[in-house]
Amino acid sequence: MGNLSTHFDSSEFACSCCGKTVKMSDLLIDRLEKMHKLMAAKAIYINSGYRCNNNPWGSPTDAHRRGMAADIRVQRKDGSYYTSEDIAEAAERVGFKGIGMMEDLSGINPPACHVDTRGDEPYIYDWWHGDESRHIDWTKDSGHTFIRGTVFDGEKPATQKNSVKVTLEFDDHQYSGLLEEM
Ligand SMILES: [Zn+2]
Ligand SMILES: [Zn+2]
Repeated sequence: MGNLSTHFDSSEFACSCCGKTVKMSDLLIDRLEKMHKLMAAKAIYINSGYRCNNNPWGSPTDAHRRGMAADIRVQRKDGSYYTSEDIAEAAERVGFKGIGMMEDLSGINPPACHVDTRGDEPYIYDWWHGDESRHIDWTKDSGHTFIRGTVFDGEKPATQKNSVKVTLEFDDHQYSGLLEEM
């Protein structure tokens, strides 16, 4: 339990250069929680949250400077990481309009994705779909979508096996246990 929501704490969004924290967008946190549920995540890690004006990764128009953006990686319950494409798709489905895939082409770091609340909170542009690793920007008019019809872990029905309790009697001893469907 974080101090922002069930899964997020303000310390996770602290500026990487100075540790400063600001009030993060409620909408950002709300959508990150929705992604957490949709993807049945073990954890959503914040690679970068707030950036102060001195942060070398920032730019004057950076949504991170306004506390309305996060670069995230998403871990499944089995410990593996979702792809950038998957994160982007989930982000679009929960309503994000500022989305940029961040795949480490060297394969060293887990795939990540930038999300921000532009379009619903004040920003210079109200829509952005991008691929930061390959320097691709789709225009709003292109109708670009990340949605490919992926079924995320949070949408899969819980696997349930039939089982039956059995008791065996043998030589005056009783043995009991669950027999599970294979
Ligand atoms: Zn800083
Ligand atoms: Zn970012």
